[in-house]
Amino acid sequence: MKLLFILTCLAAGLQEGLPVRFSSNFDSGSIGEVSLIDSVWVRPSRTDSVLHLSYEIISRLDPANPANPELQPSGRWFYFMMEGVKGKHIYLDFKNTDPMRAVYSYDGKHFQRFEHYQASLRKVSSFFSRDTVYVSYFIPYGWDKLQERLRQWTASPFVVMDTLGTSMMGLPVQMLAITDPQVPEERKNRIWIHARVHPSESPANWQLEGLLDRLTDNSPVARQYLRQSVFYVVPFANPDGVYGGYSRSNARGINQEINWDHNDSVTSVEVQALRARMDSLTRERPFDLVLNMHAQSDDKISYYVPTSASTYPEYHEKAMRLAYLTTDNNPYFFMEDMFYSSPAPRYVEGWIWNRTKGKTLAMTIEMPYSFYNENPDRPWVTVTSLRENGELMLRAISDFFGWNIPGRYILKGTLRGKKTIFRHENLPAGEYQVFIWKDAWVPCDTVIKKRTGMFRCVIRTDGEPYTGPLRVSEKATLRN
Ligand SMILES: [Zn+2]
Repeated sequence: MKLLFILTCLAAGLQEGLPVRFSSNFDSGSIGEVSLIDSVWVRPSRTDSVLHLSYEIISRLDPANPANPELQPSGRWFYFMMEGVKGKHIYLDFKNTDPMRAVYSYDGKHFQRFEHYQASLRKVSSFFSRDTVYVSYFIPYGWDKLQERLRQWTASPFVVMDTLGTSMMGLPVQMLAITDPQVPEERKNRIWIHARVHPSESPANWQLEGLLDRLTDNSPVARQYLRQSVFYVVPFANPDGVYGGYSRSNARGINQEINWDHNDSVTSVEVQALRARMDSLTRERPFDLVLNMHAQSDDKISYYVPTSASTYPEYHEKAMRLAYLTTDNNPYFFMEDMFYSSPAPRYVEGWIWNRTKGKTLAMTIEMPYSFYNENPDRPWVTVTSLRENGELMLRAISDFFGWNIPGRYILKGTLRGKKTIFRHENLPAGEYQVFIWKDAWVPCDTVIKKRTGMFRCVIRTDGEPYTGPLRVSEKATLRN
């Protein structure tokens, strides 16, 4: 009886004196309403007792959308801090969003996914060993994080930072221009990438980070990329949305993704800034490629591939080639993972299509938050695998344009009747695997080159001649 009395006092003291405090007043932070649903002391043993607290969480909705009033504001994102959780078992029930398995951190920097026994769709049930914990829909990629990375990237002599304009809340819309300035731009492929139109989609920035790190690592391969390309990269197309922890909108409630066809008085200042710069950069010559990086609740990576009917067959084939080059030898992304769509004018793809009628390939790519290829039994999405996908996308872009990099040569053939002849004037000595392209790189030959010099390869077919590229990769570095 006495023990029960003490426990009751202790319970009251803990609950009243040290309640769990929720806050989100930090970079990318967001929470809506929190309700304590239940509070129970559980005694796992005669000498032990654990307070179990259940909360219902309602994510904060984006502001009402003045540009598309028919749309319901979204509330997918949450990222909040809980204080006073040490030694307690906390249940979280997310009422209006859909985390498959949320992430947490004890320091706000190093995040990990809750284990499968601690979290499931919309639920968390976890005992915490420290007093302060951050819980988020996915691993955040906030304003401070980007500024730290921009400082590192711009230390490279091949990276120049620029500002396209100012967001509604006064943040710069930052852009990196990445190239080797020694090579004239007319000899390069021009690529525009923007990410994070939708601020809740932080996987897009982890993927982009992998691509940017590879592009700027000053390796012989990276140096060769930069001689053949110029990348214009806007990591946060919606900086207010990221900083403010919004879900799909900017600080005014505008979903920038579907506002490319609205005039300046309706669309956001951020879309105006993107359009103006894309316009000025393409006055002389269109971009070769525009990529719009997102994340999706589907459990797979997808490109939105423009259909043949909505564009034309060669354009669709070009899109499929880039898509399949990205899936090639990629453990996370597969041919069946694609979506197909029309380039509607409200999207950047449609805006580009109307301006260039197919000269620029424009596509959206979506990363998952959960797992890959709709397969929950394989490893779940991590920062490492997202970054790796950025590297794999860069490799696909390189093959797509036929860039030659050390150890990986993409050759174009010349047709002679049913024969296709491929040449490299000065292939370094080495042992090579040769591939042809059939919606994937298919090995067709092995070559040992004793001396550096001319390489020649002939592909003969019985039917239609082979018109695809040839890949010649050094065997020692077959990832090349
Ligand atoms: Zn999106």
